Amino acid sequence: MTPTTSPHSPAVTLETLRANIAAIERRIAAACARAGRPTDAVRLLPVTKTVDEATLRLAYAAGVRQMGENKAQEAYGKWQAMRDLADLRWCVIGHLQTNKAKLVAQCAAEFHALDSLRVAEALERRLQAQGRSLDVLVQVNTSGEASKFGLPPQDVLPFMRQLPAFSALRVRGLMTLALNAPDPARVRQCFVLLRQLRTQLQQDLAWGAQLHELSMGMSGDFEWAIEEGATIVRIGQAIFGARPAPAAATPPAQAGDRPSPG
Ligand SMILES: *Cc1c(COP(=O)(O)O)cnc(C)c1O
Repeated sequence: MTPTTSPHSPAVTLETLRANIAAIERRIAAACARAGRPTDAVRLLPVTKTVDEATLRLAYAAGVRQMGENKAQEAYGKWQAMRDLADLRWCVIGHLQTNKAKLVAQCAAEFHALDSLRVAEALERRLQAQGRSLDVLVQVNTSGEASKFGLPPQDVLPFMRQLPAFSALRVRGLMTLALNAPDPARVRQCFVLLRQLRTQLQQDLAWGAQLHELSMGMSGDFEWAIEEGATIVRIGQAIFGARPAPAAATPPAQAGDRPSPG
């Protein structure tokens, strides 16, 4: 989704966070019911990019045990700052450059945006060095927009065939960002495409049964995603409030809550 230009308001209270999370959980449950799916078929991944540490600690107090960050550096910094919260899982959900693979290999429990062999190789090397493994999802560009990362749908099967060579990567499924458009039918089509792709991979790959996850749906479109089969929804603004506009626009109101560029 396009970040809004609303002012950043990090000073949400614990009560507000609890209420926002409860409201999202009710909407998830309702969407599951409409789709004839059990409520526990969908995992809520709160997206915490640009949200300051104090607010994240409140979210932890409200019961949040996993946080999604789109930038490796920001994920790493927050992981370091909050290592006292030992059961908090960090999920990196945005495009990764190979020179940041080390950070992800250190701090992340999940990576949702694998889309090249170069990144797979870089992660594998760093993970092996650390004796760790990582749950990964392959990002697919289901909208066809040039601005979006991810593999074109037709490239996903040949890409997947290469992945068993990377023993530290546990490939769990697919991720996408839908078209940001007013027409619900076109948004849904992105989710349908990801689900169909997973079904095809499950049939075509000997190890396809482990491709369970569909990470799709954000604040503006998660109910449609659930109706189309999402197993993970990535929700930021509906929990933490509107984000500041990106760097080119006005600087954030609060110092220290944004990563340095790159
Ligand atoms: C920011 C982000 C989200 C969450 O978007 P909201 O509109 O805040 O819910 C989901 N996925 C990715 C990859 C993101 O970068």
